[in-house]
Amino acid sequence: MSILKVARLGHPVLREIAQPIEPREIRGPEIQRLIRDMLETMAEYNGVGLAAPQVHVSKRLVLVGGGEDEDGEPIVRVLINPELKTTTTELAGMWEGCLSIPGLRGFVERPRGVEVRAYNEQGQKLQFNLEGFPAVVMQHECDHLDGALFTDRLKDTRLLAFEDEAERYLDGFAGSDDEEEDGAKEGEA
Ligand code: ZN
Repeated sequence: MSILKVARLGHPVLREIAQPIEPREIRGPEIQRLIRDMLETMAEYNGVGLAAPQVHVSKRLVLVGGGEDEDGEPIVRVLINPELKTTTTELAGMWEGCLSIPGLRGFVERPRGVEVRAYNEQGQKLQFNLEGFPAVVMQHECDHLDGALFTDRLKDTRLLAFEDEAERYLDGFAGSDDEEEDGAKEGEA
C-alpha cells in the first residue's frame, strides 16, 4: 500500500468531471489497489472522506466516513459511481474542511438527508439513506467528482476562515465546547 499525494486547490484535476468506473473493473487489481491506497491516505491525514480526484485520479470513487455501524463503530464506506437524491428540504449547516484546502474552514449549508445509489468495493449495487454529518460528507465527496469544492458553496464569503482563527472566534466551530451540535463536527474531507 502507499500513501498518495493529495492535490491542492488550484490543481486542475480538482476541477475536472471525473469518469465513471466500469462495474466489471471494480474487482480488478487497478481499482482494488486504488481503494487500498486511498484508505491508507485518508487514515494518514485523519480525513473523514476522500475522493479519487483528490489523489489525482479522475474517476468516480469516494470514501465516506462520519457514520457508525449498528454497534456504534465508525465506518468508512467505499462508493463507486455514486448518485445522490435529496430526501429533505431541511438544511444542515457545517464548518467544512477539505484535505485539498488545508488549514481553511468554510460554513456551508446542504440538505441534511440524501438517498445514495452506488456500487461498493465488491461491485455490488447499494441503496441507502444518510442523515446529518455523514450526509454532508457524502455530498462534499460527490462534489469532488463534479469538480466542485466547498469554497464554491460558501453560504457567505465572509464565512471562510483559517482553522485556528475560527477556533478562537466562531461559535459552533469544530473544536469548541458544544461538539454534539450540527456544525461542530471534526474532520477534513
Ligand atoms: Zn474535500
